[in-house]
Formats: sequence, C-alpha cells, structure tokens
Amino acid sequence: MSTTATGAECSRSIGIDLGITRFATFSDGSYIAPLNSFKIQQTKLAKYQRRMAHKQKFSNNWKKAKAKVQKTHTQIANARRDFLHKATTTISQNHALVFIEDLQVRNMSKSAAGTAENPGKNVAAKSGLNKAILDQGWGEFRRQLDYKTAWNGGILFAVPPHHTSQTCPCCGHVSAANRQTQARFACVECDYENHADVVGAVNVLERGHRLLACGDVALRRSVKQELTEVSQLSG
Ligand SMILES: [Zn+2]
Repeated sequence: MSTTATGAECSRSIGIDLGITRFATFSDGSYIAPLNSFKIQQTKLAKYQRRMAHKQKFSNNWKKAKAKVQKTHTQIANARRDFLHKATTTISQNHALVFIEDLQVRNMSKSAAGTAENPGKNVAAKSGLNKAILDQGWGEFRRQLDYKTAWNGGILFAVPPHHTSQTCPCCGHVSAANRQTQARFACVECDYENHADVVGAVNVLERGHRLLACGDVALRRSVKQELTEVSQLSG
C-alpha cells in the first residue's frame, strides 16, 4: 500500500471519496493508491488455471498446477486483507469523525447481466466496473472503518454523495462543467481548482458536518443502524 500523508496529520474529522484510480481520497488532500498488485496476481492466477485445465486430471502435473492456483488465491486474499486493515487502522486512529460517501456498494456490485425478462444494459462496461469495485473492496473497507472507528471512540457517518463531484467547495456553484476531466476540477464561476477526488472528499466532509449540525434524522438513523450492526458483529 502506498499512501501519501494519510494519518500524518491528526484532525478531528475527515471526508473520504472512493474511486477507481485512487482507492480513497481524503479531504486533507492525501490519498491511498489502488491495490495494483491484485491485478498482477490475477494474471498469475489465470496462467495457473489455464495450465491446470490442460493437464490430465489427478496427474502429478495437474496436482502441481492446482497447488499453484490455491497458493495464488491465498496470496490475493492476504494482500487484500493487509491493504484494507492498514488503511482502516490508520484512518480510525487519527480521526474521530469520519465521513464517507454513501455508495450503495451492494447495488453497484450486483450482476450486470440482469434477468431473462430484464436483461442488463452495458453489460461489459458494468461488469468491468463491478470487478474493479469488488477488487477494491469498498464494502469491506467501510465495514472495517465502521467498527474500528467505534473501537477508537469515534464514529463513521455515511453521507449522500449527490453532486459531490460537481459542487464547488469555494462558491457552491453546481455544474457538470466544473468537472473538466476525470481528475481535474475547475470551477466555471470562480477560480477554485483542485483534484476532482479531493473536491469530492471536501464536499463529503462539509455535507456531513452540515447534516450533523441540522440533526438530520435520516443520517442519525443510519448511524444508529450501523452501530447496531457493529455491536452484532463484535458481540
Ligand atoms: Zn466556484
């Protein structure tokens, strides 16, 4: 895992934007790079699986190939677990209030193929995105962050992410045109410029504080539910 200044600066609250090119970007401008090693491991896995398929079943060479497949599976699982645990431990130890965009990970990672009556659209593109989401482990990231923040006496809030990538943190102007490229945010109304994922994280943080200050009922309810889930998990 390569991080920049994540956790180096302790601040009471932080916002998190989740992405594909950057696994997680923080409102302080730091970020966690994606788990690229997983891709390399997958190429290796495919190679051993092919090798296994071409051997005679239960032969010595087949057994050797099978052992390599299993070993690679274990390496992938270990690498992912290490990556997520390091990230969530660092964040939960350095921040008491953690705001994360409420991506419906389960919905997003649902099968893109659809059903016979209702076939899915853009199946190839969606399954590529689904795979990336699953590889990245956003759902597991949030689950760990949730209980670890609670362990450290903090709390994780899920914030509705509507327009967080299109809203100017400086003047509040909302426009798709603010998003010049995938990575670049440049407000069309004022001079504000930043990395688009940092903008997303800043907006998640600000929206989270605003919702808390307003005593937003829905937000409180979701937090209570999550705390119940955490106590069930740890109990
Ligand atoms: Zn602006």
